[in-house]
Amino acid sequence: MDDKLREDIAAWLEFYRDLGIEDFYRRERATPVEIWNSNLRTRPAAERHDIAAMPPATPDARLPTPELRPPSSEPRVTAPQSPTPGAQPRLATIAPPPLELSLFDAPPPPPKERETLEEIRQDLGDCQRCKLAPTRKTIVFGQGDPHAALVFVGEGPGADEDEQGLPFVGRAGKLLNRMIQSIDMKREEVYICNIVKCRPPMNRTPEKDEVDACSPFLFRQLKAIQPRLICCLGAPAMKTLLGIKEGITRVRGQFFDYAGTKAIVAYHPAYILRNPREEKILREDFEKIREFLKLRQ
Ligand code: URA
Repeated sequence: MDDKLREDIAAWLEFYRDLGIEDFYRRERATPVEIWNSNLRTRPAAERHDIAAMPPATPDARLPTPELRPPSSEPRVTAPQSPTPGAQPRLATIAPPPLELSLFDAPPPPPKERETLEEIRQDLGDCQRCKLAPTRKTIVFGQGDPHAALVFVGEGPGADEDEQGLPFVGRAGKLLNRMIQSIDMKREEVYICNIVKCRPPMNRTPEKDEVDACSPFLFRQLKAIQPRLICCLGAPAMKTLLGIKEGITRVRGQFFDYAGTKAIVAYHPAYILRNPREEKILREDFEKIREFLKLRQ
């Protein structure tokens, strides 16, 4: 700097000092990371936190202006600053970055265990777990959308189902199809299964030991599908899934909870075939299903 410039600056400084203005800044305000880096250079190694891995500072990473200032009781830093060896920069009041993992840095939780229907079917294998096995022709595992919002649970396969290996394909199945259509759904959109997967002789009601052997597979299917609504068709399904022992007439059309999933109870279609005048009631219950699925999409 030449003498003339030095004299001019000195004159300007004196002029401003006479006006009571003494603070001059030579540079723009530093970013927090610049301040932190300059602090690092002057601090003993033992005190330093390694910030080499920190992401580069971006404009968004700057702290709000008030936090950059030293506390008002301290003298403000004035320019020019000639770094004194070993001296601490006076703006270095920013806390070091936290070393522990934040919520966002933490490793993701292990994936939630969720079986597929195929895995459950494989596990079932050529099931011989109960006394229905020797008389069955086919295991009727279930049919439909593996991610269905609506699952129907019946009692057990009849003769047609045992032949074809599919649930609700006989006369009761035809009525169920009509009910599904009455709420503007398609059979392929829902999932249909039973409490037991093998036909009980003479279509009798499944016995407790048969239900106990078979129902864990049903529970796993429901867990895999995670439907929004389960429809228990008939008393055995209601009893197995909801533990309700009351007569179905008193609870049909009502919503219950099955392991955190809503479940509605309805008459079994085979009962309606024997008592056609009750079809109106079954329709009413299917309307409730429609409303439930519509309201809580
Ligand atoms: N009745 C049932 O309960 N399930 C079927 O699959 C068929 C008839």
